[in-house]
Amino acid sequence: MDAPHPRRHLLAIGDLDPVQINRLFARAEGFITDGDTRPDLRGRLAGATLVNLFYENSTRTQSSFELAARRLGADVINMSPRTSSVAKGETLLDTAATLNAMGPDLLVIRHSASGAALLLSRKVTCSVINAGDGRHEHPTQALLDALTLRRAFGTIEGLRVAICGDIIHSRVARSNVVLLTLLGAEVRLIGPPTLAPKGAEDWGARVFHDMREGLKGANVVMMLRLQSERMEGAFIPSPREFFRFYGLDAEKLAWAAPGAKVMHPGPMNRGVEIESGVADLESRSLIETQVRTGVALRMAVLEDLARGDLDVNLKREGR
Ligand code: ASP
Repeated sequence: MDAPHPRRHLLAIGDLDPVQINRLFARAEGFITDGDTRPDLRGRLAGATLVNLFYENSTRTQSSFELAARRLGADVINMSPRTSSVAKGETLLDTAATLNAMGPDLLVIRHSASGAALLLSRKVTCSVINAGDGRHEHPTQALLDALTLRRAFGTIEGLRVAICGDIIHSRVARSNVVLLTLLGAEVRLIGPPTLAPKGAEDWGARVFHDMREGLKGANVVMMLRLQSERMEGAFIPSPREFFRFYGLDAEKLAWAAPGAKVMHPGPMNRGVEIESGVADLESRSLIETQVRTGVALRMAVLEDLARGDLDVNLKREGR
């Protein structure tokens, strides 16, 4: 492997421009295999080490990064704060310094605090990838969502994408609005007033509180989980009430454009924000495709960062 570039990180979508995004997509497309045979790519990152440092629960993202790294031949260490020295009171920065001293090439972090990934990136010499920091950003989720859409529709330009539910607590919504608008989609945010952030229009998206109105003509309906772990106090009267007005079922899906596709970053709460009838509807649901595309997209991110091909953060570092 080439010498890794220090200080190249993926912390937020704003770190990337359309040229870099399209380059990443092209690399990821090369990793997507539809048949049973998968080429052996283990030489690509042989000798590299990736550390997964997840302070919040994860199924898809953590295993996806692990699989992506292993498919490229990298070694993977999964650090679990619950069973590591974090449980004994070690701070994020002390943990980071310890891990950094072991010389990893890539550090993937998920943390409940917005800005945790940025903070870490200033303390370590390896590349840092933000796998979700509080309600701030989840850039690889947005990238895999956009690539899934590009493959399903051929282009993102002009697509009408409705992101629905708990917008205010969602890093997925935030990263997706930035990325999809940058790539030319029209993004709408739909949710009850208590779950729509003030000033969301400034993100470049239109805000709706009525599903029927917001879904009109939408080509894509992206549902979000109610992030109860980030809620202090009551934001909705009850999950049942929430489903009645904002849960996606066949009736509400019919308000969108004919053939509209359904997405969800997972984990789903069936019967709360989405009904099984639409989540599992093969002709409309892209949910499993999102997961599959996620591995290829993360392979592309890891390879680009480890090889220094991804010129991110140049704006951030003032270069
Ligand atoms: N998995 C996504 C995230 O980590 C969405 C969710 O948790 O609801 O933000």
